[in-house]
Amino acid sequence: MRVLTDPAVTKISGFDLERIRKDFPVLSETAYGKPLVYLDNAATTQKPRSVIEALNEYYSGYNANIHRGVHYLSQKAGEAYDRVRVLVKDFIHAASEREIIFTRGTTESINLVAATFGRKYISAGDEIIISGMEHHSNIVPWQLLCEEKGAVLKVIPVLDNGELDLASFQKLIGDKTCLVSVVHTSNTLGTVNPVKEIIRIAHSRKIKVLVDAAQAMIHSTIDVQDLDCDFLAFSGHKMLGPTGTGVLYGKAGILEKLPPYQGGGEMIESVSFDKTTFADIPVRFEAGTPSIADVIGMGSAIGYLSTMDRKAAGMHEKFLLKEATAALEEIPGVRIIGNSPGKASVVSFVVDGLNALDIGMYLDTRGIAVRTGHHCTEPLMNRFGIPGTVRASFLFYNTGEEVRQLTESLKMAIQLLTKK
Ligand code: PLP
Repeated sequence: MRVLTDPAVTKISGFDLERIRKDFPVLSETAYGKPLVYLDNAATTQKPRSVIEALNEYYSGYNANIHRGVHYLSQKAGEAYDRVRVLVKDFIHAASEREIIFTRGTTESINLVAATFGRKYISAGDEIIISGMEHHSNIVPWQLLCEEKGAVLKVIPVLDNGELDLASFQKLIGDKTCLVSVVHTSNTLGTVNPVKEIIRIAHSRKIKVLVDAAQAMIHSTIDVQDLDCDFLAFSGHKMLGPTGTGVLYGKAGILEKLPPYQGGGEMIESVSFDKTTFADIPVRFEAGTPSIADVIGMGSAIGYLSTMDRKAAGMHEKFLLKEATAALEEIPGVRIIGNSPGKASVVSFVVDGLNALDIGMYLDTRGIAVRTGHHCTEPLMNRFGIPGTVRASFLFYNTGEEVRQLTESLKMAIQLLTKK
């Protein structure tokens, strides 16, 4: 396979795409006998060998339940698990590892905030602001909370190019607003929202902000102290780590005041039938045996990302996006949904008269994995008046040749499907 990289990236940094691709075993797999072209990275990223080995090492070398165990294996597992909290803290530049809560993913992180912050601070008539480009996991928990509490959900509109309408946000935010919860990087449009500005506006009115960074972690460098967000939610599996892992970052001063999330083992200080007292943060929010191996695997993913040249990776992703956008724009009948400046390497498109699913199925026969449908952003699809899109989401390990294969196969799909 011809590997095409932006020559500028190679020259500046020695970004070695072929070597990077070898770190990800799945990338040399085939689909229907054809080389796999994996362009579904926004759904989940592939895992480097170091992550796969970390899981294997845990299960074959030191599988044990953590904390409270006096024996060697338990302590070894506990230390490995606890080390990840420090790694995550450094990765997002949190002030303390007390601010890092392990969850099953972005979805659970957001639900945790809805269940604790929501339970404590949201009452009838209060308002929660989200945006029109949210993933369902940053819509439904708030709808459930609003229904329960009699609160009101307000939505920042999306402009035609896929940017948020910040002027409308300024009008929506008011005395009744209790929380703003917005996505950093849209999984459907690739839009990178001005979250720092949104946080600044909200904080000027003493309103807390949650940032859904599910898509942001792999493409951007996130510094929670610089952003000044109150909560940040993300998933390990979208940043090279195992599924079933995620993080909720919360400012210590806020977390300390929140009630527990789930009840059970680990999250308590002492239990009696008269009264139970709860552990300090972050463990107060981590009831039960966690996904130990997977958290350790997530630590390994952070290790991988921390040693790579992320600036060069970002430049390469921009190159892939530019190539894909230019080639798609030349194909008659193709319309790209979302073209905000500075967007992430995600391209969503529709083709006149054709169904996204049919296109996805044809591309699949060529070994090309894209995603089709509403991408768990149904309200956003309604906003654009379409049932769904074809979405190709690129990561630093994708190649210019893969972009070419996508666009050439798309032309064939259009020809074939239009004939019918
Ligand atoms: N938020 C965004 C922007 C996403 O893209 C996703 C998943 O695609 C989620 C939230 C939910 O993530 P998870 O399913 O890992 O909890």
